[in-house]
Amino acid sequence: MPLPLRVVVVGGGVSGLTVAYHLARRLPAETGVAPSITLLEAGERLGGKVTTRQLGGIAVDTGPDALLVRDACVRDLLVDLGLAEPLSRPASRRAYVWARGALRPLPAMSLFGVPDNPFALVRTGILTVRGAVRAAADLVLPRRRLPADPSIAELLRPRLGAEVFDLLVEPMLGGVHAGRAAELSARSAVPDVHRAVTAGRSAYLSLRERRRASVPADPARTPPDGPPRIAPGMVTLRGGLQGLTDAIAAATPGADLRTGALVAALDRVDDGTWTVRLADGEELTADVVVLAAPAHATARLLLPHSAAAADALDAIPYAGVATVYLAYRTQDVGRPLDGTGFLVPPSEDRFLVGCTWTTAKWEHHAGAAARGLTVVRCAVGRHGDRRWQGMDDDAVVDAVHLELAEALDVRARPVETSVQRWPGAMPQYTVGHEARLAVLDTELAALPGVHLTGAGYRGVGLSGCIAQADALATRIALAAARTAEPVRS
Ligand SMILES: Cc1cc2nc3c(=O)[nH]c(=O)nc-3n(C[C@H](O)[C@H](O)[C@H](O)COP(=O)(O)OP(=O)(O)OC[C@H]3O[C@@H](n4cnc5c(N)ncnc54)[C@H](O)[C@@H]3O)c2cc1C
Repeated sequence: MPLPLRVVVVGGGVSGLTVAYHLARRLPAETGVAPSITLLEAGERLGGKVTTRQLGGIAVDTGPDALLVRDACVRDLLVDLGLAEPLSRPASRRAYVWARGALRPLPAMSLFGVPDNPFALVRTGILTVRGAVRAAADLVLPRRRLPADPSIAELLRPRLGAEVFDLLVEPMLGGVHAGRAAELSARSAVPDVHRAVTAGRSAYLSLRERRRASVPADPARTPPDGPPRIAPGMVTLRGGLQGLTDAIAAATPGADLRTGALVAALDRVDDGTWTVRLADGEELTADVVVLAAPAHATARLLLPHSAAAADALDAIPYAGVATVYLAYRTQDVGRPLDGTGFLVPPSEDRFLVGCTWTTAKWEHHAGAAARGLTVVRCAVGRHGDRRWQGMDDDAVVDAVHLELAEALDVRARPVETSVQRWPGAMPQYTVGHEARLAVLDTELAALPGVHLTGAGYRGVGLSGCIAQADALATRIALAAARTAEPVRS
């Protein structure tokens, strides 16, 4: 007779869904434990930030629009869900940056915006000769002493100089983290870059080595009889990334996945179990509670049990952003969209943070522009820039359109638009993040059965969430197996 294990997962974004998915499969298969899994999502739909809608006749993602395939756990998940084929990839490797009042091509060979050859950027107008010479000084500058947890600005700016830093590195952070380099911890937000740069004296040489090492030698090809292989890189699903969270939910057998279920409190019971209280008064008993909501929501649930954990969670700031889609008639867009889009450095003081040329970027949208519609996706807002929050949707669209008219030579209003607001959505791994995680690890160890996972901790993107959820499910399954063993024998 399999042993029962009551699992409650709080939060139905990709993190909570992935934990529930793996537990539903691994617990019975690997431990003989029969879980009863309940996932509680406060919103009216599953998927959290992952959400797809129709605009201009195509499926567009108003949350994440790209999934990084690098870790085996992401690849395996796609394969297991039957989503490995056909994936869509960027049709171009070219991207631009808005610098000195114009779109200028970003260096193709760069890691985190740091070019292999800064002098090549003088030709494109991104750097002045002085800026390139200053950047090249990195090759001879002595190693600097760094604080234990340097900000990205402390790590890179003294080595590369202000121009490369402001025009290339800083806009990358806007795109991925909606954050600022002076605040984000290099160790936590860009661990690969931190590792590479602190390993050597020259940031250029270290990053170039790191980039070369990460280029896959053999682009994966699916063997005729084997499971599909997925080459590393950015991908999306042809029907939008909500297909991923929908597929995870559909493949989580036996779990009770509830929406409209706001968790209001978590109570500890003397027998070592937990009571999960919903806002409508319902109570669920749990042996294992997985908190997969954003850090600020989780702080409220943990406050009665650990003030230190709640403080550490509350100290993780979240930036608000908005995703603005605009569909233009292709004939009204004067500039050829010959790339994936452009990023805007904060130093340029624009409203836009970045713009993805959706119909040009993804292979599967190739026909859309030919059918007469060009769809672009714009990001506004980053940590410290909340201008969009005080504007209504029409004003946001107007401000975005005005900047696009200049950048892309757009000559008429969009025929369709959508504004998706994401207040408090992007966790900021600011300096001290690792120390906060250490506090959380210590405090959670004193609350057996309670676990944290999600974008707020060890990976801000979808693949980071999937990796954390996968690892957590493994830990929970191992602990369950250890508990079950003496009972069974
Ligand atoms: C605009 C935008 C663009 C992005 N682009 C990319 C991208 O291109 N690629 C990429 O990899 N990543 C991207 N990201 C990041 C990615 O979306 C997130 O990392 C990921 O979706 C977070 O998933 P999660 O499950 O941890 O959190 P969430 O998706 O936030 O899910 C948490 C869930 O918990 C629920 N919840 C909160 N409190 C409670 C409660 N008390 N009771 C019950 N439920 C509760 C919430 O309603 C929510 O649904 C982007 C994010 C945004 C906002």
